[in-house]
Amino acid sequence: MNDILKEYLAKQQPQTQENYPILVLKTGRERSLLNRHPWVFSGAVKDLPTAENGDIIQVQDSKKNILGYGFFDTKSQITVRLFEFCAQNIRIDDAYWHKKIKNAYELRKKYVLNLATNAYRLLHAEGDFLPGIIVDIYNKVAVIQVLIKGIEKVFPAILGGLQQLGLEYIYLKTKENAKISEDTLQTVLPTQSPTQMPKGWLTDVFEKPLNIIENNLKFPIDVVKGQKTGFFLDQRENRLLLQHYSKGKNVLNAFSYTGGFSVYALAGGAKSVHSVDISKDAIAVCEQAITMNFGKNAPHTSISADCFDFLKKTEELYDIIVLDPPAFAKNAKSVHNATRGYKELNLTAFKKIAPGGLIFTFSCSGNVDRDLFRKVVFGAAADAHRQVRILHQLSQPADHPVNIYHPEGEYLKGLVLQVE
Ligand code: SAH
Repeated sequence: MNDILKEYLAKQQPQTQENYPILVLKTGRERSLLNRHPWVFSGAVKDLPTAENGDIIQVQDSKKNILGYGFFDTKSQITVRLFEFCAQNIRIDDAYWHKKIKNAYELRKKYVLNLATNAYRLLHAEGDFLPGIIVDIYNKVAVIQVLIKGIEKVFPAILGGLQQLGLEYIYLKTKENAKISEDTLQTVLPTQSPTQMPKGWLTDVFEKPLNIIENNLKFPIDVVKGQKTGFFLDQRENRLLLQHYSKGKNVLNAFSYTGGFSVYALAGGAKSVHSVDISKDAIAVCEQAITMNFGKNAPHTSISADCFDFLKKTEELYDIIVLDPPAFAKNAKSVHNATRGYKELNLTAFKKIAPGGLIFTFSCSGNVDRDLFRKVVFGAAADAHRQVRILHQLSQPADHPVNIYHPEGEYLKGLVLQVE
């Protein structure tokens, strides 16, 4: 572990209370917690505990019944993020966190991992009943994003849990490094109060170039410089669907990032693939991914451009267009502008799709729910005067599970549209 990180962790005051501080809810405000929704908003709180930001606290209803335990947050509208629902006092020790991590791993082992794929999300915040942390595994390397102060305070136990799984190389991303405003995490955890943890390797540095395989395709991963944790694992199954439909097609992959959809389209026998992204760094990684899988002569062109401009100006009609933009709605207030962005983008795509073609259109804004997204795409189809049918409704895979009591965790929505 690097010295700055070691020093930072040593400075964190471990919580010493034998009995956890207690937060009492206003009368009648326990309902959502009884339904196991893991957030307590500030307006529901009657008595605040004497506790520091990030401390573990016990939550009680107005009659002093215990409802559960969570991380206290003094800086966010979400005053507590619960990780445990129970009606009695419990002890939250290292073994408690280790078990949570083990359970998350068992789920992936059972439903996600196979010989063709060695990259997956191990911890998905509320989806794994562990708010404030994301862990992605890339072959031998784990990449952690800590999103709240509470996780910092139990961090040594979390690290221990990861090491018990045999993970040798662990890298910690910072919020800034993760470009949180441009990706889905913001929507998984709105109005979080960020941590100040420094980034770096928590173990020996992984020196070699890091590659993963996903559905037998190869991808280079840059955990240090890449957006988010380095790769968008959440589109794994949707990329595979594209592969099935790509034979002989002209494909446009808009917002291509590291070229995930492009590689799958070529693997499916696409006649030509265009990858468009505004980031030159992303385009460079995309080209590397194409070469790794198909050599230098693949029918692929990458273009560093704004996708809105590109779609307006291109004279091509594509057989398949993939639209996977960053989260346009970063918070509840920006939903209106975001829907305008989605509408414009989809409208331009409807104008550039060949008759009988397919559009794979996505939104990863947690604040734009499935119904709203579908309405926006409906509006774009109507304005474009095209006959459109929904062939598939897509979401996130099993390693990004959605806690049924926390619908906010379902952030990725997609439609596969057939356009006459
Ligand atoms: N489809 C990708 C993930 C896309 S992430 C995958 O499967 O891996 C969103 C991408 O959009 C980022 O790479 C970002 O650089 C890019 N981006 C953001 N705004 C853009 C714009 N206006 N035009 C083109 N690319 C943009």
